[in-house]
Amino acid sequence: MDRRLFLQSAVGLSLLPALPAGGDSPSPAPAAAEHPGGFAHLLECPLCWAEKCLTDPQTGEPFRANYAQRILLTQSELRHVNQLHRRTGASTAQAILALHWAVTHPHSQVLCYAPSIQDGDAVWFRLEDFLKCSHPLNGCVRYLGSQRIEIGPGSLSSLIRRISPYQTQSRSDSPSADLTRSGLTGQHADLLLVDNATWVPEYVWPYFKRLYSPSPTQPKGTRVRVYSTPAFSTEITQYARLCLDPKFDKTWSRFHLASWDNPEPLREPGLWLNFHNEFQARFHPDVERHFRRLRLRG
Ligand SMILES: [Zn+2]
Repeated sequence: MDRRLFLQSAVGLSLLPALPAGGDSPSPAPAAAEHPGGFAHLLECPLCWAEKCLTDPQTGEPFRANYAQRILLTQSELRHVNQLHRRTGASTAQAILALHWAVTHPHSQVLCYAPSIQDGDAVWFRLEDFLKCSHPLNGCVRYLGSQRIEIGPGSLSSLIRRISPYQTQSRSDSPSADLTRSGLTGQHADLLLVDNATWVPEYVWPYFKRLYSPSPTQPKGTRVRVYSTPAFSTEITQYARLCLDPKFDKTWSRFHLASWDNPEPLREPGLWLNFHNEFQARFHPDVERHFRRLRLRG
């Protein structure tokens, strides 16, 4: 299969006449003028591509982005820091960004970075779920061990790779201070996604900076999306703060979404074991008191 055939099947070209302008996402829908549909637009727009080509693994229905995802999937600046409350669907958005990039950029590499393997699972499992149920991609996906997925036909394929500095399940294990174990040595990225950035160890940030800074092959530098809890700016290291602060580095844009600014209702936390997932989300006062007690005890 050549590149064009692959792209056509990956974006469902044969179905394009049925695509309504602007997609049929629930309101508030993106402005139709900004999302005209069509092959060229789907190559550029992860939101429209996902709603056109991906099946929601949980419902089996065509994927529909929620409020936060509609923003995260249409961010156009080179680098974004996203400070989000829990359960915004950011992990799903990251999986979609990785897939869309790999499909539309042959020979590229997407790095999905998380502070621990456990943290990285959220994005990686969603990515695998999408691949399992989104038929146009099936024939062109190869799993290379548990950390790498190759997408695309033959020599045109792209790589999605997951990396964590803690080669253990949990970030509560003590990290290695060895710089070469950042996982980033010798890596390059055409798209870098950093999840749970609050917990990325300080020694990793200089590696990020080296990775995304302009180079002869990438004069503008790499596209980066950093995701964290709303409290990110107070908890990250001084170095990371300087790297990511738009005041010091104009290549960064910032998006902040607290739970009370999200027009869509939050799902209620399920088991109390979900506490870490819900960390810094907005709770019902009773639930919050309950979690606080558990935390103090633990
Ligand atoms: Zn679009």
